Amino acid sequence: MLRAVHLVDHPLVQHKLSLLRQRSRSTNSFRRLVHEIALLMAYEVTRSMPTHEVEIETPLERTVGRQIDGKKIVLVPILRAGVGLLDGVLDVVPGARVGHIGLYRDPATLRAVEYYFKMPEAMHSRDAIVLDPMLATGNSAVAAIDRLKQTGPRSIRFVCLIACPQGVRRLHDAHPEVPIHTAAVDRELDADGYIRPGLGDAGDRIFGTK
Ligand code: URA
Repeated sequence: MLRAVHLVDHPLVQHKLSLLRQRSRSTNSFRRLVHEIALLMAYEVTRSMPTHEVEIETPLERTVGRQIDGKKIVLVPILRAGVGLLDGVLDVVPGARVGHIGLYRDPATLRAVEYYFKMPEAMHSRDAIVLDPMLATGNSAVAAIDRLKQTGPRSIRFVCLIACPQGVRRLHDAHPEVPIHTAAVDRELDADGYIRPGLGDAGDRIFGTK
């Protein structure tokens, strides 16, 4: 596997991902599991984030500790399915800023078309974490990161639940410096643009639209 791919193989994540894949799972339960997996994955994704020293007064004495500057992190869900991952990550990085990228997949070409883009100010001093549950063709991820790069963030990471070899290759070819954090790399992309075995349409399952 490419060095850019960070597989989050923690047993809790893998357990919850297996539950998530089940066809019979209700919308409510699916959404809760996505939230929990996102929260757990946030530990891995933020592992290499910079920290700075802070002075602390414990009940007994003064000491120094380390803190992440949460405000320097900008979470960027790709609308709409990426929103499902947002709150779980915010649970552990509550100070993070949030930018949104609206992309839809043209059903005929499977190409990403942008319809919304809003980022916080001063992106050059922020570390961006792009959120999208499925890295399928890679077209949305590449288009989102192309656009995000125009704002000049200090760093970019990509987080998904399930990737496939084609999506990983496409994203890595376009943006080799962007690490890909995923809970699974599935077998293949089918002719309809779905990851197999996958979990179906993540957006529909999160929002109960099908
Ligand atoms: N988007 C999804 O929601 N599921 C897939 O399998 C591929 C793209």
